[in-house]
Amino acid sequence: MAEHESLEFGKADFVLLDNVSLEEFMANLKLRFEKGRIYTYIGEVVVSVNPYRAMNIYGRDTIEQYKGRELYERPPHLFAIADAAYKAMKRRNKDTCIVISGESGAGKTEASKYIMQYIAAITNPGQRAEVERVKNMLLKSNCVLEAFGNAKTNRNDNSSRFGKYMDINFDFKGDPIGGHINNYLLEKSRVIFQQEGERSFHSFYQVCVSVYVCVTRQTDATISWYTDQMAVADAMKVIGFTADELQTVYKVLATILHLGNLTFGVDGDTTLIENSKVVAVIGDLLATKEENVEKALLYRTVATGRDVIDKQHTAQEASYGRDALAKAMYERMFCWIVGRINDVIEVKNYDAKVHGKNTVIGVLDIYGFEIFQNNSFEQFCINYCNEKLQQLFIQLVLRQEQEEYQREGIPWKHIDFFNNQIIVDLVELQHKGIFSVLDEACMNVGKVTDKVFLQGLNSKLANHAHYTSRKLSPTDKSLEFDRDFRVRHYAGNVVYSVVDSTHTLMWPEGKLKITEVTKRPLTAATIFKNSMIALVENLACKEPYYVRCIKPNDVKSPLLFEHERCRHQVEYLGLLENVRVRRAGFANRQEYPRFLQRYKMISEFTWPNHDLPSEKEAVKKLLQGCGFEQDVAYGKTKVFIRTPRTLFCLEEQRTEM
Ligand code: ATP
Ligand code: MG
Repeated sequence: MAEHESLEFGKADFVLLDNVSLEEFMANLKLRFEKGRIYTYIGEVVVSVNPYRAMNIYGRDTIEQYKGRELYERPPHLFAIADAAYKAMKRRNKDTCIVISGESGAGKTEASKYIMQYIAAITNPGQRAEVERVKNMLLKSNCVLEAFGNAKTNRNDNSSRFGKYMDINFDFKGDPIGGHINNYLLEKSRVIFQQEGERSFHSFYQVCVSVYVCVTRQTDATISWYTDQMAVADAMKVIGFTADELQTVYKVLATILHLGNLTFGVDGDTTLIENSKVVAVIGDLLATKEENVEKALLYRTVATGRDVIDKQHTAQEASYGRDALAKAMYERMFCWIVGRINDVIEVKNYDAKVHGKNTVIGVLDIYGFEIFQNNSFEQFCINYCNEKLQQLFIQLVLRQEQEEYQREGIPWKHIDFFNNQIIVDLVELQHKGIFSVLDEACMNVGKVTDKVFLQGLNSKLANHAHYTSRKLSPTDKSLEFDRDFRVRHYAGNVVYSVVDSTHTLMWPEGKLKITEVTKRPLTAATIFKNSMIALVENLACKEPYYVRCIKPNDVKSPLLFEHERCRHQVEYLGLLENVRVRRAGFANRQEYPRFLQRYKMISEFTWPNHDLPSEKEAVKKLLQGCGFEQDVAYGKTKVFIRTPRTLFCLEEQRTEM
């Protein structure tokens, strides 16, 4: 619970609402947003509303105010959560993680950067050179990953088109000694196609503008790309990319751009490339002969019995192959960049036997729930990811409460709310889930079509409460026969189109020689599913902290709080349930010494000192004296306060003193 702020700014913790209703929740959220209070707690969860303007709340002074403090002692802030995670890691030797969620443009990436900056600012008081190096690398990596993984979309000018989980490792002194980045599902289709008003990854514009900046008309945008490009190149050099490696990166970007210009035609039975000059350029960039490029684009290798033969593509197949190549090149380059960053930030020379265990804070900044006009495989994966994280939130928020009550010897009352496990199962269950059906479809390359995939879903999932299609709901005109299915996600209904699903996904990942026909490569769907399961397992064994980001409007306005938009987010983030869980238990808990320190002035038994045998006894005496005995429980190390009002009264008495 936050320090008692003036009511003019609304309640600093939603747990303090007089009644937990959607109306009150929304009114408080809006009031705080309008007063420039963008952060509000639900217990230890931070709810953040994107201010869409520069806020003067991230500077050195603010950092100092939060350093080493308890959550409720200062107004709500990301820094308080970062500090809590850091303290848990340092004092209790716990691995912790900070999970940042919310839809596109809600402020996740900005939040993750402020959190990292905070951690960098409060560590390494001894100014050890190696620690400074690691911190610098960790901060610099953001700039590089954003250049290659972010793009302008209609929702966000700097939208992350990949999921990112970063571990920061700390030594026994609590200083960063390394890290590791995991990236998830880069939206590689953006390389070849962007919706109206959207762009490809920043890196393409940066590289182009650097080449042409001397000769083109300079606009604000080109100048900014140019300076960005300089910053990215600089960051890459600092991280340790060699000049050769940078050149290679630029060549890959250029190759992809040129591939995009290639067109195919037919002459009788022969498929040909219409603009052969482009082929020469690509050959040059890739340091290979023109014939090799041509052959790679116009032929595929097929295994027939024992023989392996080259078969010519149709013009359409060739364009498809060209796009697949461009996407694959970009994705591999992105993964390679992440790998190179990992090489330099990886923990080295740390001897656990000598120094004890090294601990970790993980920061997860991953795409939020998405509903577009046309939703395909990528949206399906993103939304599945959000189901997994929601499930984790449910388990951890409940489990954490439960464990704390048990540890402290206080009885626990069970709370019910919608459990989305049923939707997680719908997607990932072996043999029955949507991913399994898709995998089966992909096994039969060439024979199974998208239509057959949809039939498979319809027969396996006909009775599932969260799945439907036109065949199963014939009167539902919003669904097309043979094309769509709809999933009722915890955050809303989404219609997915199966067109091209099997096609896109059967492309094997990783290296595969065509002769290895019997050994099936994993499909993109399975790889993604496995990576999500691993991610969730990893998060589940850490102590979690949550930042729930809300986007106040769709026009990037610092003034507009669109009620309907915000209400929807509050609902699907399950924030109201979160408040209820928090209140059904105890709204606040504090260790006895801390509590005493804060409130001892309000009781004659404890001010200025007490003569009771323990701090626990002193707290008991203090609370009895104030008449709050009914509203509290005494755990082994902490006092638990049931209703926020009690704390509120205590705070009031304290300020009156
Ligand atoms: P996506 O899922 O598309 O990656 P996101 O949740 O990561 O979205 P951000 O890129 O963090 O969203 O934020 C979008 C924009 O909102 C930022 O570029 C910035 O202009 C503004 N913004 C977000 N958070 C803040 C903040 N705390 N202070 C000022 N501006 C902010
Ligand atoms: Mg982002």
